[in-house]
Amino acid sequence: MITETLTKEKLLELYNSDLDTLLKESAKYVKNGVEFCSLVNARNGRCSQNCKYCAQSSHYNTDIETYPLIKPEEVRKAVLEAKENHVSRFSIVTSGKSPDESDFGGILDLIKEVNKEEGIKSCASIGILTEEQAKQLAESGLVRFHHNINTSSSYYGEVCTTHSWQDRLNTCRLVKKYGMELCCGVILGMGETVEQRVEMALELRKIQPDSIPINILMPIKNTPFENYHDKIDEENILRTLAVFKIANPDSILRFCGGRMRLSEENQQKALQSCVEGILTGNYLTTTGKSPQEDINLVKSLHKIIIR
Ligand code: SF4
Repeated sequence: MITETLTKEKLLELYNSDLDTLLKESAKYVKNGVEFCSLVNARNGRCSQNCKYCAQSSHYNTDIETYPLIKPEEVRKAVLEAKENHVSRFSIVTSGKSPDESDFGGILDLIKEVNKEEGIKSCASIGILTEEQAKQLAESGLVRFHHNINTSSSYYGEVCTTHSWQDRLNTCRLVKKYGMELCCGVILGMGETVEQRVEMALELRKIQPDSIPINILMPIKNTPFENYHDKIDEENILRTLAVFKIANPDSILRFCGGRMRLSEENQQKALQSCVEGILTGNYLTTTGKSPQEDINLVKSLHKIIIR
């Protein structure tokens, strides 16, 4: 439980301090292990929401493959493959604002399929939940639920107007209420200011997620953010990671989509000073590194992979 007061002014001061000193400060909270997780995109389809970064939004003419909910056998195959690659958490991911009632029972079956595999903990990322859905997910044995705040509450209106930051926060609260672990993070480089990055760090500190996924925007053609290639540079990504870790010492920061915007050297620096988790394999709509490359990266830093 975090009790120490950390003000926005203090965190901003840290953000703007000497980079090496800042990374050394955040490194004080980092353990020697790295946790691997993986996911399957269990249903891909057009979504009613207008999140300006998203390939799956029906508001933008992007080139994506759509398909209905996959079968438990396909999940089983993906889980076994992930386990071979040292993955200890596996997530069922579906597109859309909220779980589709007609698919919800099928999603619960997929979660049960993940839970059958010893050594693998289940995770789901299926959108904004009702209280009844949160209850049913917990009853199904779901270990962890993923739902990002994406950006600061003060910037959310620039990213999406079809649902609110508060809607996202409400789902995070339901996840905790029903005793599931929470994975809740952000997408950096969507045009937010430094101050708003610090706000995100403090908002997450209040939410207290177990895991904080860090995505760095990979601009997608025909979305409103298609030209947002230079909204954050490598140094500012590292600075943001460091203040996130300092503000959230008990949460695991996890590299997710867009990590390849950092050089190999800066990825290593991040893993030594702030980041303790990696989403390995292919991400939702962008490609990551191969699991073997991630294993090699972690081993080159003399860190262990947590199983
Ligand atoms: S709610 Fe999810 S799937 Fe829908 S547009 Fe937003 S990010 Fe994409």
